[in-house]
Amino acid sequence: MCTYHEPVCVECGISMRCQKNGVRVVDHGYADEPSLDGPLTMWGADKWICHGCSKEIIIGFSKGYQTEGEKDFAKNLAFAEMEGIVHHTKYVKDLRF
Ligand SMILES: [Zn+2]
Repeated sequence: MCTYHEPVCVECGISMRCQKNGVRVVDHGYADEPSLDGPLTMWGADKWICHGCSKEIIIGFSKGYQTEGEKDFAKNLAFAEMEGIVHHTKYVKDLRF
């Protein structure tokens, strides 16, 4: 029995496809401005896309992550910025998860 199902786009009703493995995501916590929060955490994850409407999502986060201030964080962040990085914040105006 299969225990895994790929993500489904609600709008299109079709399966999403993995576009890239190993995308770096920098989590800014609850900052409303990415530069205001800290420490940052950096995760590995996968980017999926819907080929119907082109919406993209990030799922499949790594179990481990790196925290700002740890050895090589700045170097790894700079390298990830060159490759393309996703900046993430949990902040939503008037709503905290
Ligand atoms: Zn879609």
